[in-house]
Amino acid sequence: MCGIVGYIGHREAYPIIMKGLKRLEYRGYDSAGIALFDGNDIKLSKTKGKVSDLESRVSQEITTEGSLGIGHTRWATHGVPNDINSHPHYSNSGNLVIIHNGIIENYESLRTELTKRGYSFTSDTDTEVLVNLIEDVKKNEDTKLGKAVQIALNQVVGAYAIAVFDKTKPNEIVVARLGSPLAIGIGDDEFFVASDASPFIEYTKNAIYLEDEQMAIIRRGKDVKIRKIKSDTLVDPYVQELQINLEQIEKGGYDHFMLKEIYEQPSAIKDTYRGRLRVKSGIIKMAGIDDNLDKFLKANRIIVVACGTSWHAGLVSEYIFEDLARIPVEVEYASEFRYRNPVINKGDVVIAISQSGETADTLAAIKLAKSRGAFVFGVCNVVGSSIARETDAGAYTHAGPEIGVASTKAFTTQITVLTLIALKLAKEKGTITQSAYQSHLEELSLIPEKVETALKSDAHVQMISDIYKDARNFLYLGRGYNFPVALEGALKLKEISYIHAEGYPAAEMKHGPIALIDENMPIVVIATRKGHYDKVVSNIEEIKSRSGKIIGIVTEGDVSVKKLADHVIEVPETLESLTPLLTTIPLQLLSYHIAVMLDKNVDQPRNLAKSVTVE
Ligand code: GLU
Repeated sequence: MCGIVGYIGHREAYPIIMKGLKRLEYRGYDSAGIALFDGNDIKLSKTKGKVSDLESRVSQEITTEGSLGIGHTRWATHGVPNDINSHPHYSNSGNLVIIHNGIIENYESLRTELTKRGYSFTSDTDTEVLVNLIEDVKKNEDTKLGKAVQIALNQVVGAYAIAVFDKTKPNEIVVARLGSPLAIGIGDDEFFVASDASPFIEYTKNAIYLEDEQMAIIRRGKDVKIRKIKSDTLVDPYVQELQINLEQIEKGGYDHFMLKEIYEQPSAIKDTYRGRLRVKSGIIKMAGIDDNLDKFLKANRIIVVACGTSWHAGLVSEYIFEDLARIPVEVEYASEFRYRNPVINKGDVVIAISQSGETADTLAAIKLAKSRGAFVFGVCNVVGSSIARETDAGAYTHAGPEIGVASTKAFTTQITVLTLIALKLAKEKGTITQSAYQSHLEELSLIPEKVETALKSDAHVQMISDIYKDARNFLYLGRGYNFPVALEGALKLKEISYIHAEGYPAAEMKHGPIALIDENMPIVVIATRKGHYDKVVSNIEEIKSRSGKIIGIVTEGDVSVKKLADHVIEVPETLESLTPLLTTIPLQLLSYHIAVMLDKNVDQPRNLAKSVTVE
């Protein structure tokens, strides 16, 4: 899942690569490394730890001149995070040097074969096998680097985005992709390579996104030649103009990206429905739906495939689609769905949700569903991502870059898109009354303002966080639309504070988790006035009788829960189907403050990475 950066041009490569690696650290951060060509030789430095550790290592180890270089921030898949396993990796001759994002699945058999041919390996990585395979091909076939990379990749099973150069021909970088993203920035007589465009956004707005099974030879001062890895056909480069700007990918005065992104939700939600939600005329306009309306209207059922937080957004959509549009919905973990031989019928519509649009399991689920005749619709945030390209149609969330590893605005904007779709279908199918439809549109348009109000509880949430920060377990309970929110709240806490937390449907508590409740157990209960309120109040009574500590998420002006709970956090009133967009906010803040108080790395929690491009 790592981040890769490369540069070839007329500037010093080092600062560009270092800054780029910092921007890509959300993708992996257990080790980092850099290789520069200084005109005579390769200067390589790498270390376990973060990009900041690499900076100090570099200052002690190597000189940083050179206008060609590659850098890597790793999320280990093969071999523990240590100095040796960090990228870049040399080939045995020391001529080739590579960085790699992904997994070479058949690395063991390749390694055995290469060992027989006299190659030795210093690291445990699959990557070092690949660079030696390239070297072996280059030697045996007496070819140029580009051809050798191509032949080698045709022997490889797995996923990769790679960048490799040869110190005996230091005027080109060869890159290739299958399953992991790779963008090439086109400047004036200079080229950039990166896992996403953020490392080169201040240098150029022109980028080529390599497609799967494509490789490129990037030649200094010349051009980028793209060809297919399998068939050797040349491909005309499609240069896109980038829409993101530098401000969007920086912290803008906040201590952490996560907090910035929590606070961006009012504008992110507005950006999601801008141009789509037309309250006055009572219209929802979404090209991806409009163009495929018959498929949705005829659908026997919708299958949602997703992972992590996106799966929770999918669960919320199950309630909305069934409740408003009366379409049966199944929500599947993409990783289970893809290997389960699922029953998919021709008329099924599959909705795939992923912030990055690169989630490996979700991509595989999409391919499976398509091969069995389903119509596949994507909901993702990153424009031009693999999922956006692989699906039959889709809708972007337009939330802007999300850098914090714990997803926040991606969740609420995914729910916003899915709500728009459900409302549109409900209207078309006639399963919603005109007045209910219109009040949904009006309420949805007010959500950004109401999120703003919900954010005002920040200081209060911080105070509550201080009381419970040392608890070792948390329980999160919700019913109906707010059951998935309970799951998401628990996930947020686990992800960034490493406190064990479980989300549960409030009534299910009696079938197990109630045994855990004692005076040390904080229990976050979502108890908004709409939606099974009385039932949830009874659940709160049950907790109270067992001395659990209750943090209620309630509607403004609530009376009953206030009497029972140890603390309440208010959110504005809205329609029941839209409550997840508000109740999520205090849960995000709670996990954020607890993590900060426990001195955890909020934006880069251990063992996680933002974009899960391995299965
Ligand atoms: N498989 C490679 C490794 O373990 C690359 C992992 C990554 O994508 O960071 O080093």
